[in-house]
Formats: sequence, structure tokens, C-alpha cells
Amino acid sequence: MLLEDKDRIFRNIYGFHDAGLKGARSRGSWDGTKLLIDQGHDWIINEVKSSGLRGRGGAGFPTGLKWSFMPKNDVRPSYLVINADESEPGSCKDREIMRNDPHLLIEGALIASFAMRAHVSYIYVRGEFIREREALQRAIDEAYEAKLIGKNNIHGWDFDFYVHHGAGAYICGEETALLESLEGKKGQPRLKPPFPANVGLYGAPTTVNNVESIAVVPDILRRGAAWFASLGLPNNTGTKLFQISGHVERPCVVEEEMGIPVRQLIEAHCGGVRGGWDNLLAIIPGGSSMPMIPAAQCQDLTMDFDSLVKLKSGLGTAAIIVMDKSTDVIKAIRRIAYFYKHESCGQCTPCREGTGWMWRVLERMEKGQAEKREIDLLFDVSKQVEGHTICALGDAAAWPVQGLLRNFRHVIEERIDQYQVAHRDAAE
Ligand code: SF4
Repeated sequence: MLLEDKDRIFRNIYGFHDAGLKGARSRGSWDGTKLLIDQGHDWIINEVKSSGLRGRGGAGFPTGLKWSFMPKNDVRPSYLVINADESEPGSCKDREIMRNDPHLLIEGALIASFAMRAHVSYIYVRGEFIREREALQRAIDEAYEAKLIGKNNIHGWDFDFYVHHGAGAYICGEETALLESLEGKKGQPRLKPPFPANVGLYGAPTTVNNVESIAVVPDILRRGAAWFASLGLPNNTGTKLFQISGHVERPCVVEEEMGIPVRQLIEAHCGGVRGGWDNLLAIIPGGSSMPMIPAAQCQDLTMDFDSLVKLKSGLGTAAIIVMDKSTDVIKAIRRIAYFYKHESCGQCTPCREGTGWMWRVLERMEKGQAEKREIDLLFDVSKQVEGHTICALGDAAAWPVQGLLRNFRHVIEERIDQYQVAHRDAAE
């Protein structure tokens, strides 16, 4: 069954209605926010915990639990930092929230900041998102004007919200690189520990959350944790913005329940796979860093964190890239490998050298100019990159390559055979 309109959180995701304060209020935003805040810091954190909300930025860490790591009696200020650096290829949901329903995010930022005893929040917006930043700033100005946020606001919790515009580096979506960049330094990830909840922005306790994770909080509190937890699957609760691109009839962003079967998602909202379901070759389920899943495993696949992990992939940002049988799958992964090589910040050797090494081998494999023994060698190198780096970019670069080798090894072998036959024929 598809998500009913009454359970939708994002009611203006397509921008058909007024994104301003009046429109947002008509959709229920800023309704009874003070009553929620009056329930206290711990009540909010506990409600978010019981809702089962898991971070929507890719890792799927429980949001309420993350908030509970923030110190309660610290002399240093606390900060909420919102990650709007949406740069993972395929992902395009946070920009829709900022463009079309920014008040959900601002109200969520106020409530989350209050829960973590923060009076200041920063949102780090991807460099390419010019219009999104302008739309968000307009909404923030409205909220200040209406005394919904700011000093001495009507909610009784002083709160300032600042928009910071990035310069377009993918790695600044990694939370510690984001903090470095926000501090005005080069956007390079920090070693963890210490984690941001102890030493974050300007050395103070900080929680970094994704845009969607924050934007759903007011609805969870207003409608109740039990309502959110009743949607989706156990341990994978609530609704989620799915983004479907690639070889479908109508690419789209759509809110659905967690755990929706991927086939239903594509057929109900995207008009199906180009050329029909039988023309499906594979999907990348959660942004370009997630290993692809071949069509045979997509038939009954449900879109949630746990099901995808069982298939050695992941939900990531729920950005589904659909590939039909016309796709040159080696070329597709070679292109993705180039992206990660280009975006590596260069701090750690396995990532700096390994991403380029994997890309160069894939360049040859795409043409069939490799040897079959290099397939295992490539897998081995990807394993030496995975888990041996400061941040997750190393994993993000290794996983798509591993997905290719696990599922489409025969395509690489055929390509090598074809090249050798053609080469031999030409020589003869
Ligand atoms: Fe930089 Fe890559 Fe190391 Fe991350 S894994 S810190 S991007 S070199």
C-alpha cells in the first residue's frame, strides 16, 4: 500500500503551494511549537528516540540517541549544525525541502537545538545550491520577523540560525570536514575520536544532522512518536524521501513509507523502468557510493536500511539510480570511480592513491584491455582502501567497485575475451 496523504510530512515538496510562512502555517508548521518546547529537553529527545527515527543523511544512526550524547552541563556553548551539502550523486531531496518547505526545517532546527541546549545553529549549504540558499534565507528572515526565532522570541528559547554557503567540495558533506570548512579552514576530515559531540565546532559540543532528519522532527512531536513508529518496518520506521533517477519513465522525488518494495516505488511513481521491468539491469539503491544490486535481487527488494545491508549494499540517502540493459555497467562504475578519485581530499594514502588506481584499472577494463587476474587484484585493492582511511570516502570509493566485481564479473571477463579475440584477429 502506498503512503496515504494524511501521513505525509512533506506536503509541498513539489513547490505547488506557497513556500512562505503563511503557506507553511496553513500546512501545520509552527503550530503549538511552544507547547512542544515547554515539555522540556529530555521529553523531546525521548520522543525522537521512541519514534525510531534514523538519520536520513546516509549512515542511519538513531537520531535521538545521537542527541543524547550531547553534554548537559558544559560551560562551552552547544551547537546544532545541519548538513545541507547534498553532494552524493543521485541525491536531490534536501534541496527540495530548502526550496519548497523551508519552514519545516527552521522549526525543526529550533526544536532540535532546544533539545540539545544549543542557542545557535548553522546550516552548511552546498556551493551549487544558490536558489535553495536564497529560498531558505527568505524563510529564515520571515521567521525572525515573526519572532519565531531570534533573541526574545515567542518560544522562550533564544535561537539564532545562520546559513553558510559552501564552495562545492563533496568531502565537505563529511561531518568533520564540514566543521573544518565552517571554521574557515580547508575542508579536510578530522580523525575521530574525539567525536563532534565532545569536540565539534570551535572545539565545543556539536551535533551534525541531515536536513531531512531535522525537518521531520516537528511532525514527529506534534503527531506523536507512536504515529511515526507505526509507519515503515521495525527498526526502519517512518516516511522517507526517495529520489529515483536514471532509466525510468519519470524520475522523481517522492515521500513514501520506509520499506516500500523498490518495484512498487518505481512502477507507482516513476511510470516504470524504461522498456519495462524485464529490461532492468541493476539499481544503485542509495546514492553512487552504495554497491549496485542486480535485477534478479530487485524483484522483492524492500527499501530500508536492514534489507539492503543484508544484500551487502545500503539505503544511504535513498537515491535510487536505475540502470536498464542498455547500460555499460563497467563504464558506469568507472565514471563513479573517477568522481571519488577527483573528490578525495588526499590526506590518507589508501584513499589518495587507491581511488586513482581503481579508476585507472577500470578505464582499461572498460575497453577490455586488462588481464583476468586483475579482477581479483582490483577487488583486493578495494579491500585495502575500505576501512583503512580517516573518513568514509575511502569506503564510498571502494563499494561501487566491489558491487561491480561481485555482480558483473562475467561482463568484465567477456569484455576482456572480446578484446583479445579482436586483437588477435587484427594481428593475424
Ligand atoms: Fe581525505 Fe579520502 Fe582520507 Fe577521507 S578517506 S580523509 S577524503 S584522503
